[in-house]
Amino acid sequence: MSADERMVIVGAGQAGLHIAEALRSLGYEGGIELLGEEFHPPYHRPPLSKSWLAGEMDATQLIMRAPDALLRKRISLRTGTKVRSIDRLHKQVCLVDGNTISYTGLALATGSSPRILSLPGVNSKSVLALRTLDDASSVAKALALCAKKRLPVVVIGGGFIGLEVAATARKYGLDVTVLEAAPRLLSRVLAPVLSDWYVALHESRGVQLVLGAQVVSIESNSDGYVRGVCLADGSSIEAGLVLSGIGVSANDQLAKEAGITCEGGILVDSCSRTNDPHIVAAGDCTARKWANGRIVRLESVQNATEQAKSAASALLGNERPFDATPWFWSDQYDKKLQMAGISLGADEWAVRGEMNANTSEAGFSVFHFSQGTLLAVDSVNAGKDHLLARKLLDSRVSPTVKQVTDLSFNLADLLR
Ligand code: FAD
Repeated sequence: MSADERMVIVGAGQAGLHIAEALRSLGYEGGIELLGEEFHPPYHRPPLSKSWLAGEMDATQLIMRAPDALLRKRISLRTGTKVRSIDRLHKQVCLVDGNTISYTGLALATGSSPRILSLPGVNSKSVLALRTLDDASSVAKALALCAKKRLPVVVIGGGFIGLEVAATARKYGLDVTVLEAAPRLLSRVLAPVLSDWYVALHESRGVQLVLGAQVVSIESNSDGYVRGVCLADGSSIEAGLVLSGIGVSANDQLAKEAGITCEGGILVDSCSRTNDPHIVAAGDCTARKWANGRIVRLESVQNATEQAKSAASALLGNERPFDATPWFWSDQYDKKLQMAGISLGADEWAVRGEMNANTSEAGFSVFHFSQGTLLAVDSVNAGKDHLLARKLLDSRVSPTVKQVTDLSFNLADLLR
């Protein structure tokens, strides 16, 4: 190994950190530069809409790795450092400050960014999105102000982040309205029966839900702060905070501009390799073709962490495919949703257990099938079902609908 051997990682989030650490645990001895645009060391994002936002968790608990822990691993973390472009010919990255860093191998772990609402009045103060710790601090301040001034909150977009913030805002005792453009909640990922269950859950906790909502503009007061949201039916809803949760898009501009193949994200194979043999990518910024031929972009901690391990192996010339079942979780009120598999293309659903939004101990799972083959399982307060679902999906074992709905049938028997 030459003295100037260097792996450069762009993005110091979930995936970037794990690529750096995996390189060291795989025995790589060269230089590692972990470059992050944000001014914080790598931190956990999931609590930003949940326990941290609710004030139930200290900011220090968000930090995944303190800078001195990285130093001990000889990982050079540069925060506040944005990469502007990639020069593949000379194998170097160019920073916004004009400096360049050459690489032996390059990892792109640039994450994703919230989609921006395109509406008149969107620049009003207290119209916020939530992706970073700084965003979350602004949302927390706005929630506290709403609580003080008794102003309501409007969430635009009934996705996971929007619904989690809605649940957290209820903990502040605030009036909350969620505006969702689709006719049902989380329609891209959940079975209709679970979408309906989430509507019942939020309504039972006092959230106003408007499905099929068409937001036309945002109104502000003379001081520039948001006053409310106007809908196409002529109605308007008062708001002291508007949280925009209309999804994210992959941060793949750097890759695109460098001529790396992107299809709704940086296209990688199961080993996190791009079409450039010296460049890998991991996490929210990637898209990948699955066995069923669909190109899917996953946004989850598990995906970022597992792709990172594959990416580190690939940088060292080894193959470590990430082909385990994808999983994800979301916490709303006292309900933990755990999802296993990819439900896209499901044509049949079966419920195991009793669905009751008002019973706190209610635990159940929704199984998604395509032509009788199990695709995915969404479990609510049913951790054992979730673990079993992952095993069934990993082993490609499909129960029948009858077995799923029959609680006296032990699904674990199918694995013996
Ligand atoms: P990130 O963690 O976003 O890191 C990317 C980093 O790259 C960022 O810090 C960015 O600033 C930096 N960057 C981008 N471009 C450049 C550049 N040009 N130069 C330098 N740096 C750059 N997942 C779950 O599984 N369960 C949950 O419950 C859950 N809840 C969530 C709640 C919230 C509020 C959010 C925002 C996300 C949540 N997620 C959850 C998703 C999960 O956090 C992400 O999937 C995960 O963080 C992706 O990791 P990543 O490394 O790909 O991206």
